[in-house]
Amino acid sequence: MSNEVLMSINHTTRDLPSHRTALDDAREQLAEAVDVLCLSPAVHEMLAASRREVRVSIPLRRDDGSVEVLHGYRVQHNNSRGPCKGGLRFDGNVDLDEIRALAMWMTWKCALLDVPYGGAKGGVRVDPRQYSKAELERITRRYTSEIAPLIGPNHDIPAPDVGTDEQTMAWMMDTYSVGRGHTVLGVVTGKPTSVGGSQGRQQSTSRGVVTIAMESLHHIGIEPSRATAAVQGFGKVGRIVARLLHEQGVRVLAVSDISGAIRQEDGIDIEKLERHVDATGGVDGFDGAHRVDGADVLAADVDLLVPAAVEGVIHAANVRSVRAKVIVEGANGPVTADADRVLAASGVLVVPDILANAGGVVVSYFEWVQANQSYWWSEAEVNDKLVARMSQAWRVVTAYAKERGISLRLAATCLAVERVYEAHTARGLYP
Ligand code: NAD
Repeated sequence: MSNEVLMSINHTTRDLPSHRTALDDAREQLAEAVDVLCLSPAVHEMLAASRREVRVSIPLRRDDGSVEVLHGYRVQHNNSRGPCKGGLRFDGNVDLDEIRALAMWMTWKCALLDVPYGGAKGGVRVDPRQYSKAELERITRRYTSEIAPLIGPNHDIPAPDVGTDEQTMAWMMDTYSVGRGHTVLGVVTGKPTSVGGSQGRQQSTSRGVVTIAMESLHHIGIEPSRATAAVQGFGKVGRIVARLLHEQGVRVLAVSDISGAIRQEDGIDIEKLERHVDATGGVDGFDGAHRVDGADVLAADVDLLVPAAVEGVIHAANVRSVRAKVIVEGANGPVTADADRVLAASGVLVVPDILANAGGVVVSYFEWVQANQSYWWSEAEVNDKLVARMSQAWRVVTAYAKERGISLRLAATCLAVERVYEAHTARGLYP
């Protein structure tokens, strides 16, 4: 099988395409932090480079007997602070650069929240909606076998991301365990609770996003009960964000997903919308609201905007239509670096992904700790610890930003990069 292992420890910057990518943005954010922290060019180069990149081929026997070959990746960006950690994405647009960017953001996210991990990310270029459950299982198992030499509870620990879920993680854990000859619960997180998943993991990213959203509204002096919101994406993150915002008394006026976009002036009934999505597969056609354009959700005149779908959705061409006072990044990289500058100049508070959506990796860490100890915590215990960590990170980032007069994104990135740099310095260079 053609597993091309690209050991890119000495990876050098490639010629970049003329259009900007998530990786361009991730590198630009790192460069800004390196400037603020006055780190040397050599350190900058080390922090920018992935430690390991693997590309795998996944031959798939389809249900009709035909065979097609899919492509997958696993990138381990940095492991100075501990095992690598990061999600697995199934999406038709996955490519190596996207996975590199997401892996780098995972390194900063884990460092910022002070969980003892480095950063990684994986992906398979496949649109899961076009494949049966049996086919998705075969894709997952073959991908897991191909990357098995790189993952493990002390090496690299995958978790769900776009297009994957707790069932995907159960298949990964089972495949890895069969290869080892014994059950290894700690190899992935985001598993079902029946096989070592943590209470509260499914809601954790969204609970973290909403904790940060509440802090942000408080920061700009808006009571949740008077606040309005729009949410892009109604998947694992966006759906529960909408539900928890509703529970906090925030009126969610607009929601979108890949099927369409809807708006309701007096607030969408989220419970009813969830039932509609369960029955039809998307928000489109929900009869409690008007159908609008997807762009209208990003441009909604609301206090709070939560992009919770994919990266690069708020960019140079549409950023001037944004009317929200606060953007809390539920997704990774939803605001491009160009758009970020425009938003900062117009006084919109942007809470960066590496802070806002870190609740998932925090509870993944709790799950890994529980699995390694075979000792399970209650949901209340998990949620309390999660909220405490998120609020603490919010306080640290906002204080750092205020002290230096910089954006929350730059503050968060600086804090994270500094921690990775400290770990790197303590360990020294080998050989
Ligand atoms: P998901 O696959 O469960 O849901 C994605 C949602 O986005 C779906 O509702 C889909 O229809 C929608 N979508 C896709 N393209 C869209 C578009 N162009 N416009 C509107 N909606 C669109 O994925 P998820 O796990 O909810 O992840 C969403 C984002 O959150 C990603 O950026 C992911 O990396 C990030 N994230 C996820 C987790 C997690 O624990 N799942 C943790 C941290 C960050």
